[in-house]
Amino acid sequence: MPTILATWKEPGQVALDAAVRAWKSNSSILDCLQSGLAAAEDDPSLIAIGRGSLPNTDGEIELDASVMDGADLSAGAVCAMRGILPAVQVARWVKDRTPHLMLAGDQARRFAIENGISPQNLMTQEAVRRYHDWRNDPASTASYAHSIHDTVTMLGCDSGHVVAASSTSGWAFKKPGRVGDSPIIGAGIFADNESGAAGATGLGEELWKACASFRTVEAMRNGLTPQEACDETVRYMTRRLPASRETPCVVLAVGLDGSFGAATTKDPFHLWVFRDGEVFVEERLPKSSSVSCH
Ligand code: ASP
Repeated sequence: MPTILATWKEPGQVALDAAVRAWKSNSSILDCLQSGLAAAEDDPSLIAIGRGSLPNTDGEIELDASVMDGADLSAGAVCAMRGILPAVQVARWVKDRTPHLMLAGDQARRFAIENGISPQNLMTQEAVRRYHDWRNDPASTASYAHSIHDTVTMLGCDSGHVVAASSTSGWAFKKPGRVGDSPIIGAGIFADNESGAAGATGLGEELWKACASFRTVEAMRNGLTPQEACDETVRYMTRRLPASRETPCVVLAVGLDGSFGAATTKDPFHLWVFRDGEVFVEERLPKSSSVSCH
């Protein structure tokens, strides 16, 4: 039985349910993560991933996504890609069909179209309404511009084979062209069958500066459990990156034996888990009040 993790309460449930369904139809562990993220991207009620997410200051949704396979360190990513769903599928094609690691912006979109995806308008009426609210009064929405937690980062472990993937629209009302940690290998995700996989969600600028996912995987390589490794990364971030104390930065990790952990710099964080055939959600609180992991 694999272990599969997905971030945040509402989107994590959507993603994990789809991933478990894929597992039950004999999909590979990386395909399970891809199915999970594609389902979350397609859900218009989730406002920081895929369809119906909140746009940049120009009113355009720009998506970031990534995948990594710990078996051979192969990875693929897209960033600032407009009008294409599922973004995670395009990231997977970058990994499988090109010699490159990342495609950006219009050229990521062109690559997606060349591979058979039709562009579409991802803005819902609700997203348009929120964009106009922001245009009319940016200050009133500033508080949630980078604190909407619908980014989904997923990790999987199947018999010592670890994988990681992430998908997001990033900050609401971000500067056009802004790219966060999620599509950056080592920042938003990292997976290595020698030590484990880790992922991140939250304030991407700070998570990227910390190389949060790579840092966490390397801590496992040095002998820490997944939970200890996440705690160590969060301690480092709160010490070295003061903005991470104001806006949540979360890391999650899975070890080669399927044990897992997560930690957050601020506010409660909910992690969806599939382990030993059961689906459940765990809460992590900042600092020493984190609950213990399985
Ligand atoms: N890390 C993402 C970004 O900064 C957003 C998030 O995870 O909430 O783009």
